[in-house]
Amino acid sequence: MPIKRVALRNGAVVNSRAKMRPTIMKFGGTSVADGVAFANVSSIVQAAAGEQPVVVVSAIAGFTNALLGAVEKASGGDSRAAGRSLDEWFERHVAIAKAFVGEEAREPVESAIDDAKREIRQLLRIIAAYPVTSPPLQDEIVAYGELLSSRLLAAGLRANGLQSQYVDARECVKTDETYGNAAPLPETAATTNELLRPLIEAAAIPVLGGFIGSTPRGVTTTLGRGGSDYTAAIVGAALEAREIQIWTDVSGVLTADPRVVPEAKPIPVLSYQEAAELAYFGAKVLHPKTIQPAIDKSIPVRVCNSQAPQDAGTLIVAESEAAPQTIKAIAHKNGIVTVQVTSARMLGAYGFLRALFEVFDRHKTAVDVVTTSEVSVSLSIDDASTLPELITDLEQLGTVQIERARTIVSVVGEGLRNTPGIAARVFSVISDINVSMISVGASSVNLTFMVDDAHAAEAIMRLHRVCFEESRVPAEEVVA
Ligand code: ADP
Ligand code: ASP
Ligand code: MG
Repeated sequence: MPIKRVALRNGAVVNSRAKMRPTIMKFGGTSVADGVAFANVSSIVQAAAGEQPVVVVSAIAGFTNALLGAVEKASGGDSRAAGRSLDEWFERHVAIAKAFVGEEAREPVESAIDDAKREIRQLLRIIAAYPVTSPPLQDEIVAYGELLSSRLLAAGLRANGLQSQYVDARECVKTDETYGNAAPLPETAATTNELLRPLIEAAAIPVLGGFIGSTPRGVTTTLGRGGSDYTAAIVGAALEAREIQIWTDVSGVLTADPRVVPEAKPIPVLSYQEAAELAYFGAKVLHPKTIQPAIDKSIPVRVCNSQAPQDAGTLIVAESEAAPQTIKAIAHKNGIVTVQVTSARMLGAYGFLRALFEVFDRHKTAVDVVTTSEVSVSLSIDDASTLPELITDLEQLGTVQIERARTIVSVVGEGLRNTPGIAARVFSVISDINVSMISVGASSVNLTFMVDDAHAAEAIMRLHRVCFEESRVPAEEVVA
């Protein structure tokens, strides 16, 4: 039966036959660290071949950092050293190609690696000569991480008998011009459907790099560190996927950061809101912007372990499906700066807070947590790059006090809505640790506070014990 193509009002082109709902499978850097890891990804995709997979892949582990390091070296003037620092990374890509891609399909991949090496060196020379032009050029360089890994994966899947097709993600994900932290534009739905639908309908497996996009004029952009998760969600929403899978190196979203709490356990089910709060307050396993596109189209998100694909992982769904209503996890974000502005002008006056927030607006600085008292406001920021300018402007409003090296700790769970005594229980286990900026109820699923970086691990471990490991142990015993 011929398939009729129709244009939707939003510009998307789809087939008139019932739309296929693909499964988005996103593999993070650690899932593609070497040839063995690539082969492992290939078997995971093979096992899902019947579910119309669309594969999104990050740069190989560590390469994005190396590319950013090279840009920094070049900005300092030494483009040769910058270029040389990447040599081992190109060799690593060639080694992966040798291990993972059959000899007959290897030539185009190897020449893509060579081209990337040459082009990056040229761009580094431009950066060294004209450092002022570096933000767009930095994105152009950093994008090679995902461009190469996606080429490698597409070729390797094909060599393993899958009908995969490399797609340049920049043709799908259209963004604004905020280099380094670009936001997707609405036309992404149409461009993604135009490019990927015909492949899916033809039973091919599109493979695209995460993290990268381009402006309507075609200039390369990136979506912010860890942004491949976001690509998976953007592409998933555009294609109205059946599921968005985030394949990583842990068996789901855990009850705490495993680097701080080795006893942390996978959480079987989370609501969208719980997952969004955890990601926002530092659970690195999900990029904070990943959940919104999934909510918009009611698409379940699943976090799975590429080293243990048989593990159930975490399923993230609408609140109504996410039971039971308990405390789910503790997230944290360190290296936070808090800014306190004290002014008698605040007392009983209106307009003060607006003036205060306008300062943060003017310097494009996001605020995470806010608490106020009669004559002072405390705010937390995790990007302190604009701090000197912020201080100058805030001093017009009152006395400014800065504290660095702080950690936001956030206890998250739908259960916070209606479990009496939770705050008392949380604070009694850390009663000997100085806590500030307590915020509860701003969102009904989180309780947030600030401690010094130096005390964060201790506070999180104790909270984890009382919330997840020994729920019947009285709080006093945990402190002891
Ligand atoms: P990928 O390369 O797959 O994108 P990331 O390093 O970005 O992987 O995210 C996975 C890592 O996130 C885990 O290895 C873990 O160290 C860290 N992490 C922090 N908090 C959590 C949490 N609550 N649950 C799971 N992982 C977490
Ligand atoms: N490669 C990018 C980064 O390291 C994006 C990602 O891995 O999600 O930030
Ligand atoms: Mg990540």
